[in-house]
Amino acid sequence: MDRRKFIASTLWLSAGMTIIPAKNLLVNRVYHQMKPIRRNVGIFTGRGGTIGWYADSDSVIIVDTQFPSSASMLHDEVRQFSSGPVLTLINTHHHADHTAGNTYFRNLANQIVAQEKVPDLQRNMAEMQNTESEQTYADVTFEENWIADTGSEIVRATHYGPAHTSGDAIVWFENANIVHMGDLVFNRWYPFIDINNGASITNWIQVLDTVASQSDSDTVFIFGHGSTNYGITGDVQDLNIMKNYLAALLELVDRSITRGDNLDDILNHPRIEGFPNHVSAGARLSLRANIRAAWQELNGHL
Ligand SMILES: [Zn+2]
Repeated sequence: MDRRKFIASTLWLSAGMTIIPAKNLLVNRVYHQMKPIRRNVGIFTGRGGTIGWYADSDSVIIVDTQFPSSASMLHDEVRQFSSGPVLTLINTHHHADHTAGNTYFRNLANQIVAQEKVPDLQRNMAEMQNTESEQTYADVTFEENWIADTGSEIVRATHYGPAHTSGDAIVWFENANIVHMGDLVFNRWYPFIDINNGASITNWIQVLDTVASQSDSDTVFIFGHGSTNYGITGDVQDLNIMKNYLAALLELVDRSITRGDNLDDILNHPRIEGFPNHVSAGARLSLRANIRAAWQELNGHL
């Protein structure tokens, strides 16, 4: 632990706000990184989807919350940039690696914002996984847009229709020209496509196209799942690679269906040309899982 972090932890304890249980002290040794980008906006990587943050003297806005242990580390870090009293959370979608840390902020956040489908999706997921008691849900929801003006930054969460799930939001920091993509970009990973919760590869491609057209060469994109080799953040070229991968996936499966193949024919020889750097992170984030999702979407059944 470096001196700065040691002081932060000591203050945390002496402020009497909480006592860190021994098991969390162990978790605190997990690698995490706080990185400012520009104009009070930055990222935090720990365990789970990349967190985006905005911090000025009055306001802190946090995009996604990972898990309670890493949310607490983030809170420690962000307080070095702001003692602002207004704390807003935004969830880009309902998956646990983006929402489980909400509970850490339960008594700290003024509001938790998400697209209107998110609370129900999160509740259904929690019921299936028996984790209802660990959930904290958004209390401010929107259909298409939510906007906040902090005085020096305009923060806008926009829902462009279904993509990674049916309730995705993309968060724009308009003055900083930084965009949190949620899980619409897995940078050189085979993505998780949550077909059972309303994902649409067809619209995902469209959304990436739209967002790319609304950006410029200076826009910095934050990826829900970044890559050590290719970046946690990136530019419009990375968006295009993600879009081209999804288009190639749909085309591969579409051609197979037209040929009269069955699903096992493609799954037995999963292969997609032109994306040599894509890697898999387990069964759910694999080419085979992606092919299965595309097959379900194109056949119109789950
Ligand atoms: Zn996700």
